[in-house]
Amino acid sequence: MSHVFPRHCHASLPTAVAGDGCYLIDSNGKRYFDASGGAAVSCLGHSNAPVREAIKAQIDALAFAHTGFFTSDPAEQLADLLVANAPNGIDRVYFVSGGSEAVEAAIKLARQYYLEIGQPERRNLIARRQSYHGNTLGALAAGGNAWRRQQFDPLLIGVSHIAPCYEYAERGAEESLADYGQRVANELEEEIQHLGPETVMAFVAEPVVGATLGAVPAVEGYYARIREVCDQYGVLLILDEVMCGMGRTGHLFACDGERVRPDIITIAKGLGAGYQPVGAMLCSSAIYDAIAKGSGFFQHGHTYIGHPTATAAGLAVVKQLLDPAMLPRVRELGSLVETALHSTLGQYAHVGDIRGRGLFWGVELVEDRETKAPFDPGRGLAGKIKKTAVAEGLICYPMPGTRDGRVGDHVLLAPPFIMSDEDPQLIADRLATAI
Ligand code: PMP
Repeated sequence: MSHVFPRHCHASLPTAVAGDGCYLIDSNGKRYFDASGGAAVSCLGHSNAPVREAIKAQIDALAFAHTGFFTSDPAEQLADLLVANAPNGIDRVYFVSGGSEAVEAAIKLARQYYLEIGQPERRNLIARRQSYHGNTLGALAAGGNAWRRQQFDPLLIGVSHIAPCYEYAERGAEESLADYGQRVANELEEEIQHLGPETVMAFVAEPVVGATLGAVPAVEGYYARIREVCDQYGVLLILDEVMCGMGRTGHLFACDGERVRPDIITIAKGLGAGYQPVGAMLCSSAIYDAIAKGSGFFQHGHTYIGHPTATAAGLAVVKQLLDPAMLPRVRELGSLVETALHSTLGQYAHVGDIRGRGLFWGVELVEDRETKAPFDPGRGLAGKIKKTAVAEGLICYPMPGTRDGRVGDHVLLAPPFIMSDEDPQLIADRLATAI
């Protein structure tokens, strides 16, 4: 009997023993093409030499030093590199160990910022339905999936949820894209008015929605309006790039591609590329200074923040992402994925939509592609596709629609940036067999 406490108690899983570029290998020698990197983690594949060497060198020199006593070279250098390439105005980096911790830190930072500047009544957070921001209690409260939240309610903070920008499912037949974008962005203003502008601290959203909707970018104009509303009411804009960040969309920071300027950004997954658990919350000096000049102490922290080995891995990853050839290559491979998915799956009866950015793609699955009627959730589509894809030697990320009767069954693809020109077709072929 295994003594590991698995998340899916009844799953019987193969044992992964090795990684080789785009492939994972199990204890029977079976090779799986990793087209989702778990969920958008393994951006550099599985045997990246510079990251492995950086980790070894750091462990040999110093594995751990507590940030209550020391800073470290890799943490300093990684923060410098991130800030040098971050959107304008973002110039402080708070390291954590993963995505939920980064979101948790962002929520607490927003709350503490308003306390420090004397607006203690600003405690409400606005997020979007059909969203996921992590599984710790604060991040879970932010997420817009009632099914995930319900058994833990009431959670610590007040969160209300507005519509996501999900044109495929929610745009009216007669409505232009631009009108749709403005209509859903205006929900933010309506919610702020409803709650009382003096009570709202922040709005959180993914620039390109990952796990819950399947690589869905907002329509043109949506984020410009969101930024405008945030500025008008003094609401902080937190962009969660845990999944879509770190080059995944063809830009180091996804918000740069979507042309929206955040006050706070969260990153993780691709930052450590799977080699180390590392994430970060980035913010502006304006926010940092309010705390530095106020209480001088951020009320949030974990033992492993700024971990030297983890930040050394992150540094080796980000250096490679900033190689001048890397992000153009992500965009080039992205068009090959787009072509392969459309030509192979575009006419499938149950494929409702294919969309994405860079190497972040979603294939929407529907009962009827004309009416867009969703599958009955009872059919357990995601689990079945996952099982058949794994049998085909393909790791992809099928997700059910949120369990509140809405559409959203999809397969998410987030393949490594190091794949060959032939690999997009291999992914499309294996996925086609699984579907
Ligand atoms: N935010 C987003 C957008 C995510 O996709 C995830 C993980 N899927 C998280 C936060 C939480 O990250 P982690 O699982 O590393 O805690």
